[in-house]
Amino acid sequence: MKELKNVEVFLFDLDGTLNMGENPIEGAMDTLRILDQKGKKVFFVTNNSSKSKYDYLKKIQRLGYNADISQIVTSGMAAASYINKHYKNKTVFCLGTETLKKELSEDGINIVDIGQKSDIMLLAFDTELTYKKLWNATNLVADGSIYIATHPDYVCPSDNGNMPDAGAYIACVEATTGKRPEIIIGKPYAPMAEYVFDFCNVTPDKVAFVGDRLYTDIKFAINNKMTSILVLSGETTLEDYKASKLDVDYVFDNVNSLRNI
Ligand SMILES: [Mg+2]
Repeated sequence: MKELKNVEVFLFDLDGTLNMGENPIEGAMDTLRILDQKGKKVFFVTNNSSKSKYDYLKKIQRLGYNADISQIVTSGMAAASYINKHYKNKTVFCLGTETLKKELSEDGINIVDIGQKSDIMLLAFDTELTYKKLWNATNLVADGSIYIATHPDYVCPSDNGNMPDAGAYIACVEATTGKRPEIIIGKPYAPMAEYVFDFCNVTPDKVAFVGDRLYTDIKFAINNKMTSILVLSGETTLEDYKASKLDVDYVFDNVNSLRNI
């Protein structure tokens, strides 16, 4: 655990930490500006692979913080980097949104369509899911394509109830094929951490992760040797935290406690 005044880089989750859907958590955008003024570096790290970094840039700006594209990391970006590093020039069928597929293509990933053979089946948070896409994905996994998932979250909070997220799709693919992903990229796993440290040009001892979800955000911090900061403004209650037995460095009601470091 680091004294927070010595932390140089603050990584923030979004939903439940800085915002609830389209609404910022009260004071959160001012808190980001205060951290800027203190000379801290701020980045946004989301597992949500249904949107591109450009979508997230617009979203954070709508919430009221003048973010730059260089502050945004998504599990989709980390997945592209991972595939380029370990499976250069392999073909990829992506169970994902059009905006994600466009971003992957821009990063040099060779995306194939339904019905084509594919070396890799990349499962993402596909909010444009069709039965044909799902069936194609399970066929590829059953036939031995390398199975990668962008992130493990079961649900994505929204203003209209929890949305089934990539983790729920992983369960569906497992029920159909008996197979789990060989690699999961996003929080809490190492590929996302390696990507983030590289992206932010920092070592974990100088980093704190701020998030509201125990099984992704907090485990991400703990497993990858960052300082962990749990905020109770999202899905985790104090009772959940106590029951988890996780050794969290700091627990705050919301991000505004970071103003006083
Ligand atoms: Mg969250």
